[in-house]
Amino acid sequence: MTTRTHEDWLALAKKVVPTTTAWIDGPVSSLSAATRTTVNPATGAVLAEVAECDERDVDAAVAAARRAFEAGNWSTASPRERAAALHRIARKIEENVDELALLDSLDAGKRIVDTISIDAPGSAAILRWYAESLDKVYGEVAPTGPADLAVVSREPLGVVAAIVPWNYPLELAVWKIAPALAAGNSVILKPAEDSPLSALRLAELVAEAGLPDGVFTVVPGAGPVVGRALGRHHDVDVVTFTGSTSTGQLFQQYAGQSNLKQVWLEAGGKSAVVVLDDVADLDLVADGVATGIFTNTGQVCSATSRLVVQRGVADELVQRVLSRALAINIGDPLDPATGMGPVVSRRQATRVLELMETGAAEAREVHGGGLVPDMPEPTYIRPQVLLGVDPAARIARTEVFGPVLSVHVVDTVDEAVTVANSTPYALAAGLWTDSLSRAHGVARRLRAGTVSVNCVDALDVTTPFGGFGQSGYGRDLSLHALDKFTGLKTTWIRHG
Ligand code: NAD
Repeated sequence: MTTRTHEDWLALAKKVVPTTTAWIDGPVSSLSAATRTTVNPATGAVLAEVAECDERDVDAAVAAARRAFEAGNWSTASPRERAAALHRIARKIEENVDELALLDSLDAGKRIVDTISIDAPGSAAILRWYAESLDKVYGEVAPTGPADLAVVSREPLGVVAAIVPWNYPLELAVWKIAPALAAGNSVILKPAEDSPLSALRLAELVAEAGLPDGVFTVVPGAGPVVGRALGRHHDVDVVTFTGSTSTGQLFQQYAGQSNLKQVWLEAGGKSAVVVLDDVADLDLVADGVATGIFTNTGQVCSATSRLVVQRGVADELVQRVLSRALAINIGDPLDPATGMGPVVSRRQATRVLELMETGAAEAREVHGGGLVPDMPEPTYIRPQVLLGVDPAARIARTEVFGPVLSVHVVDTVDEAVTVANSTPYALAAGLWTDSLSRAHGVARRLRAGTVSVNCVDALDVTTPFGGFGQSGYGRDLSLHALDKFTGLKTTWIRHG
């Protein structure tokens, strides 16, 4: 939480001077000298003209990253040296936490209460966790015969390209950068078009922390240009991507069309929260359901955008969820009293509003939705709750990435599981029940990378995060993330 007032944050925001340069062995303009205007979605104000990279900048970034990898100052540094450097980056983030939180709030319309308490300090914490982990990861000695010694070690893979979306600009970047750097790789970060500012500032902080040139590079630019060039580059070894399923599919194609690089995908979701009829505290559940969909204005990949509820508690729960949804205080993300800020851009607002219309046509009963009038920008959207939606309806299968909840009433536990599992996605699921045995039994049957039982969107650096099906594969966070950024190498010594 923040003890600062709205006025305090507005005053601090005025002092922020965004970094606008890309970072390839230092601050650089794009080779074409092109720039892209980045706008505050809360006000429409222009924030900065940011370097707009293209394929030639990507070539330069990959060359710098490869040079650094081959030079070995980072890739063959001892784990303790790398750990110390990651701690220094974390300290730099902590020292600049207000600025980084503000950059994400200004650039992406995120609530300051979230960026100052979750995104920015969380990023430092993740770096520290990997710093502390990396000299505790051991290799193996294989069970060979007595005349042989076979050692299995983890090797960094080389040049890692991290492509990230705009909903958690700094934090999702760090989810990837921290384990990839910890493992000894060189990392190239491509931020989303709508939210490059914290990534550009991070590049400066990483350099101040003393990482060798080329180990960390940032190339802002268009997805179909910079993202594609990284995906198709013959000297990129790994792509780690967070974004939509359709873009994830493109990265698989890029890899096939180029050098068979490894591609790890954290893609979309259409997660369900299942509420069984044995729950006693419906206020607690309603708080959880509302938080699960309206956090970050619904722009969360693991948002529980479908409520699957057993008939016995459905009416009462829905009334409680509705009263919470319609009472959300929609306003300026820099105001700590704001419950929900704008969506990330006018473009995203248009998309969400179109899907709200689709949903309204498919539902028996519609509550809320539409633009909030008289706001500084057409980016503030009312929560929408849709009742009586067929689980096969378009709105129940399409990721909105906005504040839209569809409600599905079911009779039996089996039906609840079937409906919850009925989309091509499988990123997250929620489950509310007061029965321990149902908690275990139903959680096992829910197809999702994470099932949060009697809590909301549970995640932590200690546990793996990612999905099945069209939500992608590979895991961020936890020691398992290191699997994506290392290759197993066998060294077999015959000494008999
Ligand atoms: P997006 O797929 O449009 O963009 C993600 C990134 O890919 C951006 O950096 C973008 O520039 C780049 N990109 C876009 N088109 C490209 C192309 N043709 N070639 C190469 N790169 C390209 O997604 P978005 O709209 O920025 O983010 C929202 C999506 O991200 C949602 O689907 C959401 O579920 C997903 N997401 C997933 C997770 C997760 O962990 N699973 C987390 C957050 C967001």
